[in-house]
Amino acid sequence: MNREPGPRTIAALPKPVLAIALCLAGLLAGASTLAASSRDYSSLSDWARRQGWRLTRNPTSREVVATGTTGHLNLQIDGSRALFNDVAIWLSNPVMIVDGQVCLANQDIRGVLDPLARPPLIPAGQRIRTICLDPGHGGKDPGHKTGTRLEKAFTLALAQEIRSRLIEAGFTVVMTRRDDDFVDHPIRTSIAKRNHADLFVSLHFNASPDGSGDANGFEVYAMTPEGARSTNISRDVGSLKAWSGNESDPGNLLLAYDVQRALLQRLPGSEDRGVRRARFLVLRLSEMPAILIEAGFMTSASDARWIYSESGRHRLSQAVVDGILAYRRQVERPAATPQRSTNSKSSTSSARPDSERN
Ligand SMILES: [Zn+2]
Repeated sequence: MNREPGPRTIAALPKPVLAIALCLAGLLAGASTLAASSRDYSSLSDWARRQGWRLTRNPTSREVVATGTTGHLNLQIDGSRALFNDVAIWLSNPVMIVDGQVCLANQDIRGVLDPLARPPLIPAGQRIRTICLDPGHGGKDPGHKTGTRLEKAFTLALAQEIRSRLIEAGFTVVMTRRDDDFVDHPIRTSIAKRNHADLFVSLHFNASPDGSGDANGFEVYAMTPEGARSTNISRDVGSLKAWSGNESDPGNLLLAYDVQRALLQRLPGSEDRGVRRARFLVLRLSEMPAILIEAGFMTSASDARWIYSESGRHRLSQAVVDGILAYRRQVERPAATPQRSTNSKSSTSSARPDSERN
């Protein structure tokens, strides 16, 4: 794929001006400090111009909308919650105004905007064929407990349902566990690698810490980019360095978005908690695009409808497969156009027009 030149950074602004702007925006956004590597922000209009996207800024609100070939992106000045085609995606840094311009951290331009605007194509001739499903927990690790219900049982039930649907759709499926077994996290990712999985999908359910039924909805996690903060900063213990999971950063983000979008479409009315970032062990160690799905709260009466019932899991599993199929459509290159024969109808190309890639 064509590589865009790197974003023009505004770090060239006089340092005191930049420092004040960064400080102010950080305070407005409630962030006491910004990570050192997030100090480079770039103009959103420069990015939009390079991509051929249109940028509109509402003069009476803090909203900025970027519209392009793959969709529309809504941003809030001083906010970190973006909407891409109405699906929430958490940025690692707040949107800021610097020198009168709407600016985004280069981390978020590279890590969120670029993969959504230009899906990361896989090498010519390669296909997304093998999916590794990872039912969270198992054996001595029950996961969340709500009454007598254990998370490990429902992640396995959901994985089995997704597995059947993926096989029907022509995929090969690898499972990190097929029974109530304990499997250590590094073994889970090595199973994916050993079986040449093209994608890794870990399945979990949430529970509110106090057991109350207030929280509900879906979250899909992608690996936090190098140097960036995770959505839940408290989970950022230790280093912000790069892990093997970061080699698939663009694919991680796109897959997370596709699956979150499909969940919201298949289960309308559910809460969109957004695409989030975390350095979960299975995401750190994966060597292929990987996501971790929190497919609802076990403690929520509304989410219970799809977690604990077979019909609900049918819909959840359809959504996950829809998301994987959407991702595959975006990243696979069209098949090479066969040599057109002048008198044969069989020469129809299987190549997809660009308009179908999104
Ligand atoms: Zn879990």
